[in-house]
Amino acid sequence: MLGPVILAASRSDRMRRLVSAAPVTKQVVDRFIPGETVDEILPIIRELTGKGLELTMDVVGEDITTPQQAEAARDAYLELIDRLGPLELGTRAEMSVKLSMFGQALDGGHELALANVRPVVEAAAGIGTTVTLDAEDHTTLDSMFAIHEELRKDFPQTGCVIQAYLFRTEEDARRLAANGSRVRLVKGAYKEPAEVAYQQKHEIDKAYVRILRTLMEGEGYPMIGSHDPRLISIAQELARTAGRKLDEYEFQMLYGIRGDEHLRLAAEGHRMRVYTAYGTDWYGYFMRRLAEKPANLRFFVRSMVTK
Ligand code: FAD
Repeated sequence: MLGPVILAASRSDRMRRLVSAAPVTKQVVDRFIPGETVDEILPIIRELTGKGLELTMDVVGEDITTPQQAEAARDAYLELIDRLGPLELGTRAEMSVKLSMFGQALDGGHELALANVRPVVEAAAGIGTTVTLDAEDHTTLDSMFAIHEELRKDFPQTGCVIQAYLFRTEEDARRLAANGSRVRLVKGAYKEPAEVAYQQKHEIDKAYVRILRTLMEGEGYPMIGSHDPRLISIAQELARTAGRKLDEYEFQMLYGIRGDEHLRLAAEGHRMRVYTAYGTDWYGYFMRRLAEKPANLRFFVRSMVTK
């Protein structure tokens, strides 16, 4: 019940101001977003890759309102890539981007987002790594898939995300699996109406398995974005049945969630990529993490009242 309320709050400016100003917020936020600057995040990158984990880096931010903010987002990624270069991590540290942060919702946003994301994809390729386009709410997806297809003409390794809760996704998965794309499959983190998305957890889980089977049996590179233990063991089984070797798919989880499981899967020889977010505009990302698990919210509220 709480999840949809928190997701609605994630789009409210008033709640953004309240939550961001709360004195204890930072401690709770740090669990999911372990830094605000490149200097703060580089030691985390070294630590995690030193443990055999791979990373996908997210500079937090979304729903910007001016073209200048979109350029600033592009520049933040370019700075990160510039600083990652000397670490020579290659695909062990890739980027995840949200196109709304690159201007997708502004006037002429499709072209603007493509123009801003292209230099990031080029720079990533320049240090031997790749970019994955995150999936946001369903109204943005046609544009995201078109940008993905456009970028893949020059950078075929560019990945994208699909969300099991959307009815459209089984068809998207068939297309992407046939054309050999890197695809991260997630359950979906936005508040979506019943006209376009499954609302019940068991329906979403069943769709996840159907879509994952399509990806595993296809020509592309499946990236299993989930912390759900049941789905993780089903994924291992589907990979075996499809005859995939350990380096022909990967697991992905979020920084701060089930850290022991990251290490366990990596120790078993799996590619395990940790989605690591950093930056100052963390509100939307943070609220989605609270919505996924109401216990996080209880912890957050308790720390506010006991301080
Ligand atoms: P759940 O059933 O929600 O969780 C399974 C178990 O994991 C829970 O029982 C709990 O133990 C643990 N867990 C899950 N979430 C939390 C949490 N927030 N705090 C503490 N414990 C938790 N969504 C999008 O819509 N677009 C994207 O581009 C996108 N990218 C993602 C990238 C990665 C690498 C991952 C892992 C997720 C991404 N998501 C994205 C979020 C995703 O859609 C889900 O909201 C999120 O992963 C929770 O679903 P779950 O599969 O982990 O299963």
